Amino acid sequence: MIDGKETDSANGEVGHIRNPADIRETVADFSMGSIDDVKSAIDAAYISFNKWSETTPRARSQILFRAADLISQSEAQIAGLLTREQGKTYPESLNEVRLTVSVFRYYAGLAPTISGRKVELSDPSEFGLVFKLPVGVTVAIAPWNSPVILMAVKLAPALAAGNTVVAKPASSTPLSDSVLCELVNKAGLPPGVLNFVTGKGSVVGEELVSNKKVSKIAFTGETETGKMVMSVASRGIKRVSLELGGSDPMIICDDADLDLAINAALISRFRNCGQVCMSVKRLYVQEGKFESLVRRISERIQKIKIGNGLHDESRMGPLHSRAQREKIEEQLGDAIEKGANIVSGGKEPDEPSLSNGYFFFPTIVTNVQTDSKLITEETFGPVLPIFKFSSIDEAIDLANNSPYGLGSSIWTKDLYAAMKAANKIVAGTTWINSYHEPQIDLPFGGLKESGLGKEMSIEGLENYLETKAVVVNSKGKNRAWLD
Ligand code: NDP
Repeated sequence: MIDGKETDSANGEVGHIRNPADIRETVADFSMGSIDDVKSAIDAAYISFNKWSETTPRARSQILFRAADLISQSEAQIAGLLTREQGKTYPESLNEVRLTVSVFRYYAGLAPTISGRKVELSDPSEFGLVFKLPVGVTVAIAPWNSPVILMAVKLAPALAAGNTVVAKPASSTPLSDSVLCELVNKAGLPPGVLNFVTGKGSVVGEELVSNKKVSKIAFTGETETGKMVMSVASRGIKRVSLELGGSDPMIICDDADLDLAINAALISRFRNCGQVCMSVKRLYVQEGKFESLVRRISERIQKIKIGNGLHDESRMGPLHSRAQREKIEEQLGDAIEKGANIVSGGKEPDEPSLSNGYFFFPTIVTNVQTDSKLITEETFGPVLPIFKFSSIDEAIDLANNSPYGLGSSIWTKDLYAAMKAANKIVAGTTWINSYHEPQIDLPFGGLKESGLGKEMSIEGLENYLETKAVVVNSKGKNRAWLD
C-alpha cells in the first residue's frame, strides 16, 4: 500500500509464500516490490509528513486506539495467516496478535503525554524550551520470526510521535504484516502516512536505508544485516535503532527452584521452534544439579508434540525454512565433530505426515566446546546446549563469553548472587527467577552485537522523537558584548 492505494509491483514480480509445515501448500502469491516502489513509498511518506506531524497527539492517539480495535477484531484472520506463512502454532500466533493490540493501545495512551520542558537560563531576559519533535520519514524493517509484533513495536510509537512510515516485512512473511498495515490505515490515517512495501532486502534494502528523504531506520534482524544497515545509514547520519541476534545465557544455581527453572527453560527455548531472539540459547547449571536437570529436561522434551501449527495437538511447529533447518544441522554437526553429545533429539522426525515440512526434534546437547558454532553463533532453532559450572563468578564469565548481549537470566534464592549477575552480565535484560515474557512497560533491546536503542516502553517512544532546544528572549534586551 503506497499513498493509501493498493498497488502492484512496478516491475510485475510475484513472490510465493509456502507453508513451512507443508511446503506443498502455497499460502498466497504476493506482489514483490522493486526499487521504484520503494522510492514512491518514501516520496508519499515525505509529502505527508508535514501535515501528519502537525496533527495533535490526541488525534493520533484516537487513530491508534481505533487501529487496536480493528486488529483485535481481526485476530483470528491475522493469527491464521501468521501460522501458515511462518510456521508457529496457532496459540502462539494468537498471543502475538494480542500483544500487538496491547502495543497499539499502549502507544495510543502515551501519545498525549509527549511533552518538552521549560528551562531557566543564566541570563534572566531569556529562557529555554526543549521541544520533542517527530524525526521525519521512518523506515520500519521487520524479520520473519515474529513479524507482526516486531512491526507493531515500530509502527505504533513512530505514528504516535507524528512520524510517517515506510514498512517493509521479511520477504517470507509479508501476509500478516500486510493485513496489519491495512488495518492501521483503515483506522483513519491520511494517505501516505503509513506505506507498506515488499521486496527482497538484498534488492530494495539499500534504497530504503540510504534514500535522502528518510530520517530514521528501525531495524530488527540478524546482526550481520544490522551492521550493513548501520554502515549504509551512516553515509547520511541517519538515526538507527537495531534489534539484532542474541545468545541468551540462563544460569541455574544449586539452590534454585528446579521445577520453575525447568519450565522456564523449556518454554523459553522451544517456543516458536526456538526461533526467538530472546530465548535461552545456553544453559549453565551448577554442578550439584547438573545430572538431574539434564535428565529431567530430556524427559520433558520427548513429550513435546511437534506438528502443523494449525492442529490443536501441536505444541511446536516447524522451522521456518529449509535454510533455517540446514543452519541448525550445520551448527549441531560442528559441535559433534568437536566432541559434543546429543542427549535427545538432534534429527528430523521420520513420520510421513511431517515429511513435507521443516520439522526438527527438540534437542539437548552436552559437552559442547566453547569454540563450537552453537556458542559462537546465534542458534535459531530448537537446540539447547547445557553446561556445568561450579561458582557464580565462573557462570557470569561464561555468560559473558559471547558477542551477544540481549537477554539473560539467573535462578537462585541467594539475593547476593542474583544481584551480582544482574550487575555483571552484559545484556539488555536480566531476569531473576523469571524468563522472557514481553513486557510492554519495560525497555527491550540488546547490548554488544545484539543491537542499539530500545523498543517497547517510554524509551521505545523516545526512539522516534528528536530533541530540539529553543531559546526565547522574553524581555527584548540584547546581551552585553564581552570586552
Ligand atoms: P534478516 O537480517 O535476514 O532480515 C531482517 C529484515 O531485513 C528482513 O525484512 C529482510 O528482508 C531485511 N533485509 C535483508 N537485507 C537487507 C539489507 N541489505 N538492507 C535492509 N534490509 C535488509 O533477519 P531474519 O529475517 O532472518 O530474522 C531473524 C533474526 O532477527 C535473528 O538473528 C533474530 O535474533 C533477530 N531478531 C532480533 C530481535 C531483537 O529484538 N533483538 C527480535 C527478533 C528477531 P528480506 O526478508 O527480503 O531479506
